Amino acid sequence: MCSAGGPVDVDLNDPLKGRGKKYKCNDCGATFTGIGKHPMCPTCQSEDVTEM
Ligand SMILES: [Zn+2]
Repeated sequence: MCSAGGPVDVDLNDPLKGRGKKYKCNDCGATFTGIGKHPMCPTCQSEDVTEM
């Protein structure tokens, strides 16, 4: 019972922990965090994205 109910300590606000960058999809306008040199939109699978 250790994995449920307790506070979860996750540093989502630390930019150095997640190595992804923020991108915006030029096709559907979705914003997402991409990893790697060729990030792909998770919504429409487009590679036409702009780094934010
Ligand atoms: Zn998209």
